[in-house]
Amino acid sequence: MSRRGQFQRITKSLRFRVTVGYALFFCVMLIGVGAIYRQKLAASLDAQIRDGLEQEWAAVKGYLRIENGKAIWYYDRDDPDESFIVERLRHVYIVADADGNVLTDTQGNLQISEAYQSIGRDSPAQIAAVFRSPSHWETRKNAKGVPYLIRSGTVWDENNRKQYFVAVGRSLSDNRRILEQFTWTYAGVIPLVILSGCLLGWFLAARALTPVLEVAQAANRITGSNLSLRIPTRGAGDELDYLIETFNRMIERLENSFNQIRQFSTDVSHELRTPITAIRGQLEVALFTASSVEQYREAMLNALQDVERLSQIVRALLLLSQAESGQLALQKTRLDLRRLVADVVDQFQIPCEGAHVRLVAEMPEECPVEVDRIQIERMVSNLLSNALKFTPAGGEVRVTLRNETDGVELAIEDTGCGIEPDHLPHIFDRFYRVPGRDASGPERGLGLGLSFVAWIAKVHQGSVRVESTPGKGSRFIVFLPVSVTAEVLPEPSDLAVPSGMNEL
Ligand code: ADP
Repeated sequence: MSRRGQFQRITKSLRFRVTVGYALFFCVMLIGVGAIYRQKLAASLDAQIRDGLEQEWAAVKGYLRIENGKAIWYYDRDDPDESFIVERLRHVYIVADADGNVLTDTQGNLQISEAYQSIGRDSPAQIAAVFRSPSHWETRKNAKGVPYLIRSGTVWDENNRKQYFVAVGRSLSDNRRILEQFTWTYAGVIPLVILSGCLLGWFLAARALTPVLEVAQAANRITGSNLSLRIPTRGAGDELDYLIETFNRMIERLENSFNQIRQFSTDVSHELRTPITAIRGQLEVALFTASSVEQYREAMLNALQDVERLSQIVRALLLLSQAESGQLALQKTRLDLRRLVADVVDQFQIPCEGAHVRLVAEMPEECPVEVDRIQIERMVSNLLSNALKFTPAGGEVRVTLRNETDGVELAIEDTGCGIEPDHLPHIFDRFYRVPGRDASGPERGLGLGLSFVAWIAKVHQGSVRVESTPGKGSRFIVFLPVSVTAEVLPEPSDLAVPSGMNEL
């Protein structure tokens, strides 16, 4: 595989996508958490500065007097605490009149600090705005871009006649530096965390997906010729085990279908081979041993019988394939099942008499159903012909039709040889014949009649079952629900059995 192909395969893999998903998730989470934390940190640092400034402002009110237009700081110069406080609040400060003129103290020192000078004096308009509000806050930057938080307000002179403008401030550079440090450190950590996230994602995806790949490899080993293989479950009882079990069940169903098809092909070839061998034998007799017209005629007649059987099988197979492929669409009509059954029973009267078997029918006044006439006739006929075939002279075949609350029940009972319990579960399988029971020669059944009966019952949403006592007789009971309304035939795979021959 080319490099490009390999790359494409990796990028399309679930493992790659899980890893990228992890990385993106971590990235978004970290950036979000970082941004929120940074905002909180900035707010708390600024709040500290504000608190400090508020205290300084209170100190200004306590230590500063304005007398005769001069600013005088009253504090005990010998007290180191007071000196420190006043020195500190005069680090960034201004005392000015309403026109913005900076006041001096009694020694003529201008009441503005260098730091305040650097952020610019306040204009009379700005001072007027401060005069109008009890406290005023603003952030200003000096020429170097260092930000300062300024708290300004007014102070009355000693006579309470004139208001003066006083402002104190503090540099926010420390706060900004802390924030910057935090941002860079955090930004440095993000790639590391994302990298670990990727590695974790890659590792976890590998752990989660390795069993899936193993399942895929195991599934790859299963082919049409070794459908008996199963994927071993891991015993974890997790979703993957559930998937494996489902997969195994699917393989099992496939195996059953394959076996059925295989069995069917074997049965079909076997069925075809017998008449072909017989025809060949008859023709050889005609060609090499027959000397009189009579012998020729007999050989030809026998061959013709086998050809008839051959075409019977071919017709059966055609019907079977039509049933399996769903081409045998049902043509349902509303009809009286009583009349339909009575007609079929009539057709069997003469053969039954010939075989010295009593044919009895018990039926209600009428029995309305919505069914496919041809298929139901075929079903009744198949059951009757079996009953007749397996009932010895002197026996009886009884047909009973009954209206039930939710459908109709048709029972065909005979006093024939019955079926051994071992064979009962198989008699509806196609090509299944109870060994040693059937007649030999052209009358021999194909083992498809009952499978077709079961198929007809099924496509009418009904059922067929059998009760039998060996040596005493059998009873086939067909149930058809009243509202036989389905138009759709089941999928071919649903057809456990098809094809009926007795009628073909
Ligand atoms: P066939 O078309 O060869 O008769 P069926 O599918 O109709 O095949 O029947 C399958 C087998 O079931 C037959 O070979 C026969 O041995 C047994 N069977 C069917 N009906 C009866 C019956 N009424 N009594 C005894 N055995 C029966």
